[in-house]
Amino acid sequence: MAQDRKKVLVLGAGYAGLQTITKLQKQISADEAEVTLINKNDYHYEATWLHEASAGTISYEDLLYPVESVVNKDKVNFVKAEVTKIDRNAKKVETDAGIFDYDILVVSLGFETETFGIKGMKDHAFQIENVLTARKLSRHIEDKFANYASSKQKDDKDLAIIVGGAGFTGVEFLGELTDRIPELCNKYGVEQGKVKITCVEAAPKMLPMFSDELVNHAVSYLEDKGVEFKIGTPIVAANEKGFVVKVNDEEQQLEANTVVWAAGVRGSQLMEESFEGVKRGRIVTKQDLTIEGYDDVFAIGDVSAFIPAGEERPLPTTAQIAMQQGEQTAKNIKNILEGQPTQEFEYVDRGTVCSLGSNDGVGVVYGKDIQGKKAAFMKKVIDTRAVYKLGGVGLAFKKGKF
Ligand code: NAD
Repeated sequence: MAQDRKKVLVLGAGYAGLQTITKLQKQISADEAEVTLINKNDYHYEATWLHEASAGTISYEDLLYPVESVVNKDKVNFVKAEVTKIDRNAKKVETDAGIFDYDILVVSLGFETETFGIKGMKDHAFQIENVLTARKLSRHIEDKFANYASSKQKDDKDLAIIVGGAGFTGVEFLGELTDRIPELCNKYGVEQGKVKITCVEAAPKMLPMFSDELVNHAVSYLEDKGVEFKIGTPIVAANEKGFVVKVNDEEQQLEANTVVWAAGVRGSQLMEESFEGVKRGRIVTKQDLTIEGYDDVFAIGDVSAFIPAGEERPLPTTAQIAMQQGEQTAKNIKNILEGQPTQEFEYVDRGTVCSLGSNDGVGVVYGKDIQGKKAAFMKKVIDTRAVYKLGGVGLAFKKGKF
């Protein structure tokens, strides 16, 4: 093998990093570059299905597949390790499994929950963040039903669930809850009318990217299934009783034995520690997805803030964008290896769907509003497509939603 092979290091096997790898391994020969993928787990998980595993409508195991099942071992070296430091000047990455140097680096370390420093949130609220949080939350919800059913002195708070935040994550989680609750009531002989699901949202309007008609559909669908919304109501603390909210400048305690914080995400904490000008774990990139001053460092997915040329605001953080960025990064790495200039990233917005359980939803697809069963179907298409894009037809058959 050639001695002067460039070292390409990809950090993170989420949508952005794994898409970079799966595209790159098709475009290069083993002689062209020494490619290493580092990820803290030996599995990739479908982060966009976390709301389902968190509510328990699917198992946490359904989210996973081994990273190595989609990696070509002849071209890519996979290392299970946790990144602890990125030294961009020395071109080195420290991990708990040793130090790796690089010529080209792709930082795709994904998202974490952002609690905005709200008191008690980390200790008292469940989060929808990764496979472990999903497993913990779905089991906790079921444990509370089991406890209610088996106790002589029944605690109504066992059947109370409060969801903080009515963004995509909060609403999709509520949708799954409304699918799961009837099953749990059946299993534990609990009267459904006793279950209380509340969603607390700080902003005056939920899902502001959607038309009023779509928002109204989502709200009435969920309300019909028993969800109560408290809009324009910020959560200011979490404690052992539940959430504390502010209503007309006065604090009120909302009580429940399950409280879920679904009201904010940020890029990996490592971003602030490794780069300058990072806000909430996201760094503004140049149009080719590299970082200002570092033509050999790409930042993609949830750690990047990509502002399309001529616009002012960065794109949101979604799997669709992360995967498109991964695809572009693979092409740009190939260009660098061949001594060609990199190309600008152009985002193609195919649309967004917010599911409301497995049979309903709202969304915009290719610029058109859709709702109901059509949206639920489209969501399954989107979910299956993501599996296919990373793992091909075989994996899509095994893990897809059809
Ligand atoms: P988000 O930041 O988009 O939404 C959080 C919500 O919580 C907001 O409505 C905000 O007003 C509210 N909030 C914030 N602080 C609060 C407080 N103190 N009290 C009460 N409410 C509060 O976060 P998200 O929903 O996790 O989404 C993160 C990103 O992931 C977004 O870019 C989203 O588009 C994307 N996403 C997309 C999908 C999809 O395409 N189906 C699904 C999930 C997430």
